[in-house]
Amino acid sequence: MQNRELREQMVATCRRMNESGINQGTAGNLSVRTESGFLITPSSMPYDTMTAEDIVEMDFDGTYVGRRPSSEWRFHRDILKARDDINVVLHCHSVYATTLACHHKTIPSFHYMTGVAGGTTIRCSRYATFGTQALSDAALEALEGRLACLLGQHGQISLGKTLDAALWLAIEVETLSRMYVQALALGEPPVLPDEEMERVIAQMKRMSYGLGPEAEGSNDIARPRKA
Ligand code: 13P
Ligand code: ZN
Repeated sequence: MQNRELREQMVATCRRMNESGINQGTAGNLSVRTESGFLITPSSMPYDTMTAEDIVEMDFDGTYVGRRPSSEWRFHRDILKARDDINVVLHCHSVYATTLACHHKTIPSFHYMTGVAGGTTIRCSRYATFGTQALSDAALEALEGRLACLLGQHGQISLGKTLDAALWLAIEVETLSRMYVQALALGEPPVLPDEEMERVIAQMKRMSYGLGPEAEGSNDIARPRKA
């Protein structure tokens, strides 16, 4: 079996999706780019019983080896093909993100963390039936210039260079969605101006914000002390 280590990392990430509360049952799917194509989770298999052998190998032409791939293989394939800035596609039906998606609400820059998806908004796509090319087209459009989007009356998609980065972003999107749902209870909250969001996004890029202490980046004031 090729890519054993990567397959095991995918299984571990899937289990963390469930443990973090962003996924349950047989909802959700995950893919990672490989040298020849991509690896993707099988369709309708609960993550607690899934093993490295169950992960499906796919080519960009839609052919696969192994079990039946996720019903959403089209949007995984199309996003990986269109976006050479990322290697991982994560999809789930996390409750607050999906709550907003059920109302076709785009997340505005009501909180500076909206910038983690790379822009001033996290868009919500139009609705299309799960597993269709129409859903893939809608997702790609909503992801233009972004690392995450909501899927109308369905869920969310988060992208990353690594499995850890995509999982981190999916949890952030869910947390932001929860904050936005709660903020909406007091009325539509004010949004940060675009100039401020530009500063926030530049600052996030410079600091590799949220990607952990080992990530490259500088925060100006703190410097490692010379021994
Ligand atoms: P799969 O089990 O086929 O990946 O489907 C889950 C899902 O979330 C469909 O949108
Ligand atoms: Zn889904």
